[in-house]
Amino acid sequence: MNDMSPTAIGKVEKFNKAGDVVNVQRPSREEAEAAIKLLIRWAGDDPEREGLLGTPERVARAYEEFFAGYDEDPVHILERTFEETDGYDEMVVLRDIRLESHCEHHMVPIIGKAHVAYLPGKRVVGISKLARVVEIYAKRLQIQEKLTAQVANTIQTVLQPRGVAVVIEAAHQCMTTRGIHKPGVTMVTSRMLGMFREDPRTRQEFMTMIGGGANTRQVEG
Ligand SMILES: [Zn+2]
Repeated sequence: MNDMSPTAIGKVEKFNKAGDVVNVQRPSREEAEAAIKLLIRWAGDDPEREGLLGTPERVARAYEEFFAGYDEDPVHILERTFEETDGYDEMVVLRDIRLESHCEHHMVPIIGKAHVAYLPGKRVVGISKLARVVEIYAKRLQIQEKLTAQVANTIQTVLQPRGVAVVIEAAHQCMTTRGIHKPGVTMVTSRMLGMFREDPRTRQEFMTMIGGGANTRQVEG
């Protein structure tokens, strides 16, 4: 299924170039809470019993946190903050960025870490902004491959560096708590652009800095 497929309610979502949702009509908070009540009943419990009375409201609020990334634009985060490099042209690496996302197939957590590097061209950006870009894309419904590519492509497009590398290692609770039940398995994805793609030594330097091996899944596109 690709990003342009119709949703269950028959509406085609629109996406911009980066694959972001740009036009979704949100239900009201009451409608969202009613849906959560329905899911409680689907699970087999009574949403009117005392312990569950406040749950729909709490879940709706939790969703606002889990999916806060739909309300923010990572392009703006980077655009607003870049500075001239003053000649700094060494690799900038931010490693072990905590990653909390949700898989778009099961809506359960993807927990792991991201490593982001770039080789500055004319622009550098505060490293906290790189972490924010990861966070904004993570706080949407995701698959790990798309998340990896979105972070790399956005940095490439906005900062126009000589290269970008993104590696994400994460455990998917849809694999560990249901389905095939494989705890301890992590998936590693990477997206290399510019010199990280073209120059094996640059790529190796980055992989050594993040302590990674060669068994990463390259993400194309
Ligand atoms: Zn899943």
